[in-house]
Amino acid sequence: MSEEVRLCPPTDRKCILCERVEEWDGETSNWEIREINGKEMVGEKFCMHEWDITGTHKSIIEVV
Ligand SMILES: [Zn+2]
Repeated sequence: MSEEVRLCPPTDRKCILCERVEEWDGETSNWEIREINGKEMVGEKFCMHEWDITGTHKSIIEVV
């Protein structure tokens, strides 16, 4: 049996520094910028995003 750890990934994340909001797109396996009220929540371009993950608990996120 192969040992594969797969934590339930969060579907939303928000940067606590610049308020960028992203949404997980399962089809493209990518974080997409979320639109709120027709406005893209892009945040700051040069921000070192610090994600506040909305999920059951904190999990290790691997960005590939
Ligand atoms: Zn940010």
